[in-house]
Amino acid sequence: MLLKDAIKAEADQLGFVLFGVAPAIPPPHYQSSQEWIQAGRQAGMAYLARPEALTSRSTPEQLLPGCRSILCVALPYPQPAPTPAETIDQPRGSIAAYAVLPDYHILLQEKLNALAKCLPELVGKPVHTLVCVDTAPILEKDYAFLAGLGWIGRNSLLLTPKFGSYVFLGELLTDLELEPDEPLEGDPCAQCYQCVHACPTHALRPERSLDARRCLSYWTIEHRGSIPEALRPLLGERIFGCDSCQMACPLNAQSSPAAFTYAQDAVIEAYPDLLEAFNLSQEAWEAKYGQTPITRAKYAGFRRNVAYALGNAGDLHAIPALQQACEQDPDPTVKEACAWALRQLKTH
Ligand code: SF4
Ligand code: SF4
Repeated sequence: MLLKDAIKAEADQLGFVLFGVAPAIPPPHYQSSQEWIQAGRQAGMAYLARPEALTSRSTPEQLLPGCRSILCVALPYPQPAPTPAETIDQPRGSIAAYAVLPDYHILLQEKLNALAKCLPELVGKPVHTLVCVDTAPILEKDYAFLAGLGWIGRNSLLLTPKFGSYVFLGELLTDLELEPDEPLEGDPCAQCYQCVHACPTHALRPERSLDARRCLSYWTIEHRGSIPEALRPLLGERIFGCDSCQMACPLNAQSSPAAFTYAQDAVIEAYPDLLEAFNLSQEAWEAKYGQTPITRAKYAGFRRNVAYALGNAGDLHAIPALQQACEQDPDPTVKEACAWALRQLKTH
């Protein structure tokens, strides 16, 4: 068996249904990623614009001296659950599909570490590796494309032929010289603009990137402090992340749920009762969401998001809880979000 086939078999065993090898060359979109940063489209994610991050992104050699190949893997995960029937008396929030699962970084890192561990035995000598799961500045979609895992879609995400865009990506940089795979041919987005039309904030850009300054995922997950007033009504019921540009994608509609292989089940509901979510104490919130990516928003950021969603939902039952938090919450952003929500409810 060829070395690459043996590695692929190990990756398969670990559940990586998508596996490919990319050459350790500078990423094709390095220049446009620099321009993206220069234009400030990373919004408040200052870590993306640090000088060392800009340098590291220029070539894999910066991250792993002697890097020769990048093993690219993907794990599909389930698409958003169907939305529950709407009731004005019990408004529900919505949580992005990836975030109802246990934090994927942990699982992917474990699996990639296991893949790295088996390499010396397969090749009969020490192998230098670096595991990346959002843990190093690397243009991962470029390498996933070069490795033949999918195309970079107009929604700025990797589109895989079988599983659409609902995939978690990871990379294993290595000093092993392996034959690279071929990128996929064609372009599923050629005549399609459905994600662009579905984006409520016009965040998707012509060069297939997104402007984080307009993206609701950025604002509800990464941003600390208040969300700009003009964007708040566009949040609708979203309380963590946004899947609109994925839900609109015909490739996702065609992918088969039976094929999903993410090993862990959802640990929280995708559409929680908004008022219940708002009334969670910090301890109860940590107990409920502690294993999930929702911790990224922190307790105050989550309550801020839920307050905006309550304002958008129009449920007058929320007024006493919002009023109380508006007066007593220790976090000024939450207080201000509650004041905004109360103004929305009073004009309903
Ligand atoms: S995640 Fe939502 S706001 Fe962001 S680009 Fe996609 S549709 Fe637009
Ligand atoms: S919705 Fe259409 S344009 Fe957007 S990513 Fe999917 S296939 Fe491409």
